[in-house]
Amino acid sequence: MEEIGSIMQYLYKQIIHNLRVTELIWKCFRCNLSFKDDNLAEIHKKISNHSVTKVKTIVV
Ligand SMILES: [Zn+2]
Repeated sequence: MEEIGSIMQYLYKQIIHNLRVTELIWKCFRCNLSFKDDNLAEIHKKISNHSVTKVKTIVV
């Protein structure tokens, strides 16, 4: 019975996790663009000479 309880707890945690997924993205505040890929952010930084900042977003 204890095992079922821990499985339920695990599933519950997974659901909560899926509902509130935070993601780190790169954001250029000048263009108001966001990049999920580190490489893309780096390319944007180089070609536009803008500074990109790593921010946390909540993905719904
Ligand atoms: Zn930019």
